[in-house]
Amino acid sequence: MLMNETHVPPATADASAPQANSAFDEAPGIDLHMHSTASDGALSPAALMKLCHERGLSRVSLTDHDTLDGVAEAQDAAATLGLTLLPGLELSSQWQGLNIHVVGLLPEGAQGSLVAGLESQARARIARGEEIARRMEKLGLDDALAKARAQAGSERPLGRPDFARAMVADGLVKDMGTAFKKYLGSGKRGDVKAGWPYLSEVVEWINDAGGVAVLAHPLRYGLTRRKRGLLLDAFTAAGGEAAELVSGFQNADVTRDLARQLDERGLYGSLGSDFHFPGGPVAPGSMSAVPRTALRPIWQHPRLAAIFAEAA
Ligand SMILES: [Zn+2]
Ligand SMILES: [Zn+2]
Repeated sequence: MLMNETHVPPATADASAPQANSAFDEAPGIDLHMHSTASDGALSPAALMKLCHERGLSRVSLTDHDTLDGVAEAQDAAATLGLTLLPGLELSSQWQGLNIHVVGLLPEGAQGSLVAGLESQARARIARGEEIARRMEKLGLDDALAKARAQAGSERPLGRPDFARAMVADGLVKDMGTAFKKYLGSGKRGDVKAGWPYLSEVVEWINDAGGVAVLAHPLRYGLTRRKRGLLLDAFTAAGGEAAELVSGFQNADVTRDLARQLDERGLYGSLGSDFHFPGGPVAPGSMSAVPRTALRPIWQHPRLAAIFAEAA
């Protein structure tokens, strides 16, 4: 969706009934990719946990962009609700000129080189916000930084949606869609590339923190099957151990094929909705079912199994 600056739209839901699969049978109640107001989500971490609980989820991860800031609040809420929360985040990286997202599932939180890595990610996001502001001022949005900050309503690094809202509020465009189409979307003046670290670096940070690196939504980078294979090869060579087999809604045949690509590389399969806001394409826990596959689910990973067992 356009409002969500870092994701392309998910495929439409696949209605065909998948076959049962023993290893992924425990999947209901799991969502390991969601966002809160700590990054670009609409719900506070506590409100998100409440919604997860209402929707019958039992094992979840909060994976805000480049920050663990929402985790403490989510953890408190999850404990009260009887939900198991695995601390997590979603790191932006670059590989062959593409912005690739890596989810870090972090049972021990931020440790080792991840700590300095998060500081440099925050600096990159702040610098990017300032550059977007400079460009938007040239396009007629006076005081762009302050106006976007007011729209954000918090001190988190600014992103393109904040500037889009500011343009709407100033009457420069009629809605956010127009703001992206004319000024902030891919290839437009406000589409500022941040200097993200290489894919291999962010995988190292996650491993250094005792976490598990998960390649986020491998079907959403617009890659051919062959190029996706190369991405998975690079990710695996860097020490990545898992990828999202299902991200929101996707076609069952495509999922089966992706499962083969992950299996060939010995990767674990993860599941997540990539939920950002109520009323959007997905809700917490909403995603396509997992077709029959020999792939190992991420909750069997040795570094995560204990946490998931507690919840069972
Ligand atoms: Zn993402
Ligand atoms: Zn995400």
